[in-house]
Amino acid sequence: MSANNKGLAVSNALPNFSGGERALAAPPNLARLRSFVRAFGALLDDTQRETHILARGARLLALLVEHDDWLPDEYAAPAPERYQQYLLHCDSRERFSVVSFVWGPGQFTPVHDHTVWGLVGVLRGAELSQAYTRAPDGTLTKNGAAERLAAGSIAAVSPSIGDIHVVSNALEAGPSVSIHVYGANIGRVERATYDGDGKPKRFVSGYANRAVPNIWSQAQSS
Ligand code: FE
Repeated sequence: MSANNKGLAVSNALPNFSGGERALAAPPNLARLRSFVRAFGALLDDTQRETHILARGARLLALLVEHDDWLPDEYAAPAPERYQQYLLHCDSRERFSVVSFVWGPGQFTPVHDHTVWGLVGVLRGAELSQAYTRAPDGTLTKNGAAERLAAGSIAAVSPSIGDIHVVSNALEAGPSVSIHVYGANIGRVERATYDGDGKPKRFVSGYANRAVPNIWSQAQSS
């Protein structure tokens, strides 16, 4: 499943802050992330049906990535050697985790799966997602053309709707950042990358950061 965020395209009309401008502006508006975390927890209190989680969760994520004024710079920092995966929040029962992914120019993931449901919302820049299908004999084939996800777009993955893909930065000259939500503490989930023959290799991603943003200390305005 993949749903572009056409109904909330107002995000594209908002000013796009560069890193320097952001540093001079107000502090990151972490209340947005706090509100998202609360709303997502309430959603999972309300339903365990994946179709409902993905549909309603996509709307919550669209609201979060509609504004680019809340992610602290340290969780949007690319690294020269590979893409980065920063944990922003993990539910106390590990029902979901929120992660920022940062791709520098030319960076891409291996072919990989997730084993749990996941939602991707592009916050900054643009990404390409190439889906794969895996035949019973293990061979991988591309499932259609790569999908280009611009800022504000939402996509979903899961074992039931398509779980294997490669994601790359669609920009040649700058980083791209997306916010992902998964139905587990994804950095600790045992999953797989796949080589060219479709042979799986065990993979536990971990996270690049040691500390998560403090979303609880700002004024409880929302
Ligand atoms: Fe992925």
